[in-house]
Amino acid sequence: MRPSILDPLFAPITALDGVGPKVGGLIEKVVPADLGDRPARVGDLLFTLPHSVVDRRNRPAIVEAAQGAVVTLELRVDRHQPPPRGNRSVPYRVFAHDDTGEIALTFFHAHAAYLEKQLPVGEHVVVSGRMEWFNGRPSMVHPDHIAPLSGADSLPLVEPVYPLTAGLSGKVLRRAITQALSRVPSLPDWLDPAIVRKQNFPSFADALQRLHEPPDPLAVSPEGSAWRRLAYDEFLAGQLSLALTRANVRRLSGRPLKGDGKIEDAIHEALPYSLTGSQEFALAEINADLAEPERMLRLLQGDVGSGKTVVALLAMARAVEAGGQAALMAPTEILARQHFATIAPLAERVGLRIAILTGREKGRERTQTLAGLEDGSVDIVVGTHALFQDQVKFRDLVLVVVDEQHRFGVHQRLAITAKGNAPDMLVMTATPIPRTLVLTAFGDMDVSRLTEKPAGRRPIKTVTLPLDRIDDLVSRITDQIAEGQKVYWICPLVEDSDEIKVTSAEERFATLKHEFGASVGLVHGRMKGTEKDEAMRAFKEGETKVLVATTVIEVGVDVPDATIMVIEHAERFGLAQLHQLRGRVGRGDKPSSCVLLYKDPLGETAKRRLSVMRETEDGFLISEEDLKLRGEGELLGTRQSGTPGFQIARIEFHADLLDLARDDARLILARDPDLQGERGQALRVLLYLFGRDEAVRLLRAG
Ligand code: ADP
Ligand code: MG
Repeated sequence: MRPSILDPLFAPITALDGVGPKVGGLIEKVVPADLGDRPARVGDLLFTLPHSVVDRRNRPAIVEAAQGAVVTLELRVDRHQPPPRGNRSVPYRVFAHDDTGEIALTFFHAHAAYLEKQLPVGEHVVVSGRMEWFNGRPSMVHPDHIAPLSGADSLPLVEPVYPLTAGLSGKVLRRAITQALSRVPSLPDWLDPAIVRKQNFPSFADALQRLHEPPDPLAVSPEGSAWRRLAYDEFLAGQLSLALTRANVRRLSGRPLKGDGKIEDAIHEALPYSLTGSQEFALAEINADLAEPERMLRLLQGDVGSGKTVVALLAMARAVEAGGQAALMAPTEILARQHFATIAPLAERVGLRIAILTGREKGRERTQTLAGLEDGSVDIVVGTHALFQDQVKFRDLVLVVVDEQHRFGVHQRLAITAKGNAPDMLVMTATPIPRTLVLTAFGDMDVSRLTEKPAGRRPIKTVTLPLDRIDDLVSRITDQIAEGQKVYWICPLVEDSDEIKVTSAEERFATLKHEFGASVGLVHGRMKGTEKDEAMRAFKEGETKVLVATTVIEVGVDVPDATIMVIEHAERFGLAQLHQLRGRVGRGDKPSSCVLLYKDPLGETAKRRLSVMRETEDGFLISEEDLKLRGEGELLGTRQSGTPGFQIARIEFHADLLDLARDDARLILARDPDLQGERGQALRVLLYLFGRDEAVRLLRAG
């Protein structure tokens, strides 16, 4: 149960004055939380932090106020000069003065009555806005703030500026935030006083106050103590919840998985190649984990083409040798089928019984697979989300391998884990996630890295070509096909519209068919599963030589003899995606190439991206460049900006706090594993505050 002390922060924002459904809807677009389908709350609004301030502390006399400067002036109002009747293009002017001169306050399309009330003749007022000098005469067009001298305190001298969205004015947002601030309850502090002192943190409530009503511009800096305090709170909540989840995972302690190595040896023998050094090393790490009674939580990180699948297969073989079952989960059906297609022949040759389960398996086949999993006659299952379904039961699931993890949520990970008796977990990803992000996104996972590419790989030659030279490209490809090469042709990614994506792929398919006839195939996300399979099969077996595709082939597809990758409108793709796509070629021993077709003129970022692609094939370098070009947000496929999974903390500013929070969380749980003490109770409040309350449910008592 959520502590009732938090109720004011969990009230919907529409409870605030001036926030109806319309404004509420706009505010939901700017709050940093990933709302899903819940409404925004007062607390979300408070976590919407300013990105800068307007400094209005400059209070010069009129003659000292420089052109273009934002100033706050103290004036006496002299006279109003409305525009001549019927002439709306002339502004309404109000003249006022101080000891040094006169200024015209200028308003277009003004409401006279309103201005007469705001600026009564003879009154002393304070106005704030941008100075403009024109022909030696000072004016201020539409001052941002006007207040009577007696009410000058209400004028924000350091005014926070928030992220906005069309239709939402800063004024409306600020009014809502001011109200939200007044609702912040007094909360017990959950932080260790020693850390508070050392870091010079304000209290939670004071931190919010300083950020939303900054006394000076530095107060809103991410490096300032107020922001750091909230970032620390958020990190601590995250680290505590990960530590609790992990403790819970460990509590259901696994069991040692040891095999005699027979199946593994047979697989080694059946492979047409020998493992790379880093594959061997990763496998040794995995096998050591499996042999421990503690559960394995390991991330296998390796660039596209580094050969993660075979490592997974060998790990699964070990699990089966030890008498259990293993599951391999993929994020898409194509990928699941492909894993199945690569693994099945090898697996069957060495006597492993393997099945596939996706949304598409129906009827008898599905019933048989389900029965086989339940009675243990299926050793390994490859599948998609379908594996989460209730009807799926295992006799003894001991190892779960998850491919391309970041497409699955934490609760999905838990859901599949629940199907076994504390199964070991291996997560595979091609994203070279920096260490800090591994920590924030996955918690304390162990990491194995595949750092080498399989031997014999040739570099991929990457070239860029403007779209208007597409004819040259087509004629070159004609020759290459005649030589027996195979081509992927990826079609433009059109934002927000699956419909258009498909059309563009279909159109390209039609024009290329004109050139190449029956040797062109098409695969896109809207096709039926069986049609997709058929298109992939035809391409793999060489019935088609050119495969026009949308990004459905982005992850994991493996056709080793495809040697040419054409990416149309490459300027619309992100670096990570371009790299993933390019990784579909260069898998065999023939030289490969990648053609990035772009539309002129290129923006700066797009230009930089394409040149990075030309310069390097190193996934790690590329992801670093990617980080620089777009910030960390999207690296894990999450929000536009900020650090994935976080609303306030920003890894580029707060990495030191993350380490501190991790140690803090460990210490806290070592002393009070069920958060029962006084501080423990306060920490539960913290977990709710940052939406980490799923961890609270893992606590033994309440
Ligand atoms: P990824 O890490 O992108 O999932 P895959 O597992 O799909 O990579 O492997 C890419 C290709 O490399 C596959 O065709 C696979 O058979 C091949 N491969 C894997 N390991 C080796 C190796 N040690 N030597 C040669 N080829 C390998
Ligand atoms: Mg793969």
